[in-house]
Amino acid sequence: MYDVVIIGAGPAGLSAAIEAYKAGLHYLVIEKGAVVNSIQKFPTAMSFFSTPELLEIGGLPFSSSSMRPTRADGLEYYMKVAEHFKLRLQLFEQVVSLRKADQGFELKTSKSLYKTRNVIVATGYFDNPNLLNIPGEEFPTVSHYYSEPFSYFRRNVAVIGGKNSAAIAALELYRHGAVVTLIHRWEKLSDGIKYWILPDIENRIREGTITTHFSTEVKEIKADSLVLENNARGRFSIPTDFVFALIGYHPDISFLKAIGVETNSETLAPDYDEVTMETNIPGLYIAGSIAAGKNNNRIFIENGRLHGKAIIASILKR
Ligand code: NAP
Repeated sequence: MYDVVIIGAGPAGLSAAIEAYKAGLHYLVIEKGAVVNSIQKFPTAMSFFSTPELLEIGGLPFSSSSMRPTRADGLEYYMKVAEHFKLRLQLFEQVVSLRKADQGFELKTSKSLYKTRNVIVATGYFDNPNLLNIPGEEFPTVSHYYSEPFSYFRRNVAVIGGKNSAAIAALELYRHGAVVTLIHRWEKLSDGIKYWILPDIENRIREGTITTHFSTEVKEIKADSLVLENNARGRFSIPTDFVFALIGYHPDISFLKAIGVETNSETLAPDYDEVTMETNIPGLYIAGSIAAGKNNNRIFIENGRLHGKAIIASILKR
């Protein structure tokens, strides 16, 4: 019987594990992939928007040569932290079900069965891309993740979306020789694009080196073209070899719902106590960006890393 099982070894899950370790609790982290799996899936040359001190967990300093650490810096840091605290991690083990049991919960995974008094769900959102739900989205030339530009030199690449991921990918692809078309459903790019990225993308659009279709919907993806629609032109096609649909991500809340956690049907955000992070199921807590549901722009590593402390304090009180 564990005191607490934490599902997910991202920064929020690791931070909760460190707090459990410091409190002397009998804890375990179960992660379906590697440590900080989501950061591994970020664009290869990505830099965090946050400064290093805002990414720190467990009180360990994050040293970086630049104001915005790179993905590689982040990976090194979080792995070193996990090593430093000798965190108990079950990696590449997927939780398949969670149910209430006599004195807490029973967790079934791809490998074993665990009993625990408390559970912290810190599974993030990055594994579940939002879909356009249009014909052709399943083609291998379509991706909801962007990693690096080198394969796309002199290829026609469409980027769909109007926030940070789309802007960063469009700029990087353009700078590495791809012929980039950016398609967004609104009349302009989001003001939420970071202040050091927005003028760059706007200038490329103004000079015509990145073609844009604003107020435009993507209707169908074909083998070598995209079918678009807007008020000015009606339906029309543009040639494309590759498509990046960077239209955001959402958490998987299926097993929270199955156990009876109340969730908002529109935002997919679970209901929880903002002080303790406990859901309506006593002993079941959420940590990190899953708490924001589809609103990815509300909880990041910066604030999600603080949830563990509040949760462990609540568990100790109980
Ligand atoms: P996002 O912020 O959720 O933006 C998604 C974009 O796609 C929005 O423009 C949205 O339009 C559009 N969209 C959503 N559904 C659509 C649909 N069905 N059809 C057409 N367009 C659709 O996603 P993101 O840019 O991937 O960012 C995700 C999170 O990662 C954010 O928190 C962001 O700040 C973070 N991020 C961090 C870094 C970094 O640290 N370096 C880099 C990139 C992103 P609306 O305007 O209508 O919402």
